[in-house]
This record gives sequence, C-alpha cells and structure tokens, in this order.
Amino acid sequence: MGKKKDIPWDELFTALESWRKKTLREAAAVPGAGGALDPVVTAMAQRTDKDPWAILAATILSLRTKDEVTAVTSARLLAKAPTPERLLSLSEEAIARLIYPAGFYRTKAASLKKIAQILLEQYQGKVPADMDELLALPGVGRKTANLVLLEAFDIDAICVDIHVHRISNRLGFFGPGGTADPEKTETALREILPKKYWKRINALLVFYGQQICRPVSPHCSRCVISGYCPRLGVEKSR
Ligand code: SF4
Repeated sequence: MGKKKDIPWDELFTALESWRKKTLREAAAVPGAGGALDPVVTAMAQRTDKDPWAILAATILSLRTKDEVTAVTSARLLAKAPTPERLLSLSEEAIARLIYPAGFYRTKAASLKKIAQILLEQYQGKVPADMDELLALPGVGRKTANLVLLEAFDIDAICVDIHVHRISNRLGFFGPGGTADPEKTETALREILPKKYWKRINALLVFYGQQICRPVSPHCSRCVISGYCPRLGVEKSR
C-alpha cells in the first residue's frame, strides 16, 4: 500500500465495521460488557445527545487516562457541572477532587476552569464549532478539537490518537517510512483517506487497537484485515 488508489479503503472499512458489530454483539451477551467496549467519548456523545460541553470535558479528561477512569470522572464532573456556568461556580480544588484520578487532574482542573471562563466571555457559554477557535482554548490540542468537531457537531474531521497512528503505520498507509507522530498521521490521512471515512476511522481503529492490533504483540492471527497488512514495524505478534 502507499498511494491513494492502491489502498482498498472500502474493503478495509467493511471488514472493520462487521468485526466491530460482531464483537459488540457478543460482548452485549455478557452482562455489563457491551457499553464498556465503546470508546468512552463516543459513548458520552450518545448518552448526552451530543452535548458539546460534555464531549469537550470528557475528551480533556480522557487524555492520558484509562477509559474506565474517564467514564467515572467525567460522569462525576458533569453531574456537578453540566454547563460552563456551573463549572465556574466550583473552585479549582473542587474540580480537581471531582476528576481525580484522571491523569494530570490538577492541570486539567485549571484548564477546564479557564475554558469555561472563555466560553462564557466570548461564545455565550457555547463550545465553538471551529477548529482554530477550539485550538485556542487552554489544554485543547488537535486530537481533542477533532473529536469535539466530529462527535458534537458532525463535522468531517479525522481524530488521530495513538491507536490510529500505530495501526495506520503498520498497515503501510504512508509507505515504508511511515509518519513520525499522530499530527503528521492526521495530515497524511487528510491527503489519502476518502472523506466518507474521516468520522469513522477513530472509533473503528481505537476499538481495534484495544482488542486486536495491540501496541505490543498484536493478535495478527485473529486479524480480519491481515490480508491487507504488511505489518510494518511489527516485531512480535500472536
Ligand atoms: S495484521 Fe497484525 S499488525 Fe496488521 S492490522 Fe492486523 S493485527 Fe495489526
């Protein structure tokens, strides 16, 4: 793979979609397992009817934090602070207590407070649906901005986290040299990935990366897209 026309996008996405459906169906048969397998921010978007503030807050908490912790801490935070106004009425210490033990909880508490202030002062308490305006908020990087745009506003965006970055490179989307970091992967995907798949790639590859294409020793023998994969950089697999 490597050039746009060489990559069988339809086959790859069809295989990943049907694997995901089957896996979630089987997980749903196990009490309590179904929802927990969905990426936590996507699940939050479904639960809150795409509330941009809830999605932005959960995405910030999810950075460097396990999904289980993000789910618990974002639910706790949003119960007390369902709007930027309500968050502003809390002290930074109280916010930090609510979101503990999310990674960097003190820094995130400070960022959330500043963000709430900016939203009230500049955007009438609303989250802006614009990449540059989102990037100007404290603690918001490209991953967060992309995830908010696609989950809250249904705007075509490619959210690249470490799973999307790793799997795209193993699959050889960018040729043998690959891409150096998630931001470069996002730029490269914007060039080659058909737009109809921009919103889906995150949910599909995050889940696939957690279950099959694991960071260390991926389960290549159980992989539904192994026929398309040159396994670039994979030294050990199962
Ligand atoms: S074949 Fe292995 S490395 Fe390639 S996508 Fe599948 S699990 Fe990942």
